[in-house]
Amino acid sequence: MSERSDAIVLLGATGDLAHRKIYPALAAMVRRGKLDAPVIGVARSGWGLEQFRDRVRDSLVKRTGSADTPAAGKLLAQLRYVDGDYQSAETFARLKEALKDARRPLFYLAIPPSLFGLVVKLLGESGCAGNARVVVEKPFGRDYASAKDLNKTLHQVFGESSIFRIDHFLGKEPVQNLLYFRFANSFLEPIWNRNYIESVQITMAETIGVEGRGKFYEEVGAIRDVVQNHLLEVVASLAMDPPVGYWGEAQRDERIKVLRAISPFSGRSLVRGQYRGYRGETGVAPDSGVETYAAMQLHLNSWRWQGVPFFLRAGKSLPVTATEVMVILKAPPQQVFDEPVPPQSNYFRFRLGPDQVAIAAGARTKSPGERMAGEEVELYVCNSTSEAKEAYERLIGDAMGGDATLFAREDSVEAAWAICDPIINTGGPVYRYESGSWGPREADRMVAAYGGWYNPSQNGSGCGS
Ligand code: NDP
Repeated sequence: MSERSDAIVLLGATGDLAHRKIYPALAAMVRRGKLDAPVIGVARSGWGLEQFRDRVRDSLVKRTGSADTPAAGKLLAQLRYVDGDYQSAETFARLKEALKDARRPLFYLAIPPSLFGLVVKLLGESGCAGNARVVVEKPFGRDYASAKDLNKTLHQVFGESSIFRIDHFLGKEPVQNLLYFRFANSFLEPIWNRNYIESVQITMAETIGVEGRGKFYEEVGAIRDVVQNHLLEVVASLAMDPPVGYWGEAQRDERIKVLRAISPFSGRSLVRGQYRGYRGETGVAPDSGVETYAAMQLHLNSWRWQGVPFFLRAGKSLPVTATEVMVILKAPPQQVFDEPVPPQSNYFRFRLGPDQVAIAAGARTKSPGERMAGEEVELYVCNSTSEAKEAYERLIGDAMGGDATLFAREDSVEAAWAICDPIINTGGPVYRYESGSWGPREADRMVAAYGGWYNPSQNGSGCGS
C-alpha cells in the first residue's frame, strides 16, 4: 500500500469546477471519514482564509443543500489558503511554506489547461513536488502532439505513478457497474464477441447548448470535448478482455489494447452537425464551423470484435440528456414463426446516467392469442435512480491513496488522440440541425443497415426510439 497523501492543494480554488464538483466531493469524503488532511486553496483573487471558507460554504449550500452539517464544519476547519498568481515563483515559495508539515501532498490542477505546463514546472523548481502526486484535469492536450508534450513536461517533475489524469467517466458508478456486470457474470462472456453481437451504439446526448461557454467550445468541439476521452473510455469498458484483476495496471493494460485495436479512421464514417442558433451564442464566430454534434463509426481490429461496427454519437441541443449504450445482438439464424423478428430485438442496454442508471436486456415474448406473434419486452437487470458515489469523490480518494486504476495512463491518452486526430482532421461539411432534434439526418444513413439509431428515452426506460 502506498502512503496516503496528507494534504490536498487545490490550484484553481475560485474556479467553477472547484465550486461545482470538488468542494462537495471533499465534504462527502469527510463525511465518510476518508479525509482528515488539510485542504489548501490557491488562487490569485487577493482573498484571505475567511473568503475562501465563504466560497466553500457557498458551494456546499448550493450543491449539497447545507453547509451546517458536521462534515461541512469539519471540512471548513481543515481549509488553508495561499494567495498569488501562478505566473510568479513567490506564490510557490509561500505554498512550500504552507506545506512544511506535509510528506506526500496531492496537487489538484483545476486551472486552465494553458497553465498546466507552467504550474508543473514551478512546482518542480520551488521544491514543492518532491514526494508529491498531481491530478491533471481534462482536456489533456488538444491533439496527439500537445498531449505528448504535456506528458513530457509532467515527467520532468513527476513519475508516472504520481500522475493522475482525470477522465471522470471512469469514476462514474454506472461505468463501474458496466464493468462489474461484464466480469461478474459468466453468461455474458460466451456471447460478447463478433459471433453474437451485430453492432454497438454509444450515444451521449445533452439537451443544453453551450450555455455561455461559447468561447471555450469554439476551441474544442464535440469530438475533442467528449469523444476523445469519455466515449473512448466507454468503448474500452465495453470491448476490453477480462483483466487479470480489477486494480492497477491490469485493467489499464486491457484498456490500451482496445484503443490500439481501433482501425485507422476513414473519413466516410463521420457526420458532423451544428445546432441552429449556435452561431448566435456569445463567443461563437458568426460563420463557425465547429461541430456541436458528431456521429462516427469505428472498427476494432481484434479477434473478438472484427466486423462489429461501433457507432458513437455525441451532441448538444438534443431531445434528452442521457448517455446510453446499446449492444445489439444478431437476429436468430432461422425464421421459425410466420412473423419475422424485427431488428434490434435482442440487446443489452446500459444507461450511464446522468440520473438514471440501468442495465437492461431486450427480448421478444409471445403476445397472448392464437398467433405465434410477439412483442418487445425489456428485462431490467439493474435499475437505480441515483449515482451512489459521485465520480469526483471516488477519484480524489483514489488519487490520495496512490491508486491510478481509474485514471488515464500516459500511453492511453496518447492512443486516444492518435485515434481522434484523423477524425478531427477529416473536416468536411457541418450539417445544421434543429435544437431538440436528434441531429442531422445525414447521420441516419450511417446506421441504416443496422436498424437505425436507438434514441435514449427521457425517463431511462427502454423502447425510446
Ligand atoms: P475557471 O476559469 O472557472 O477557473 C480557473 C481557475 O484558475 C480560477 O480559480 C482562476 O482564478 C484560476 N487562474 C487562472 N489563471 C490564473 C493565474 N494566472 N494565477 C492564479 N490563478 C489563476 O475554470 P474551471 O474551473 O471551469 O476549469 C478548471 C479546469 O477544469 C480546466 O482545466 C477545465 O478544462 C477543467 N474542467 C472543468 C469543468 C467544469 O465543469 N467547469 C468540467 C471538466 C473539466 P481567477 O478566478 O482569479 O481567474
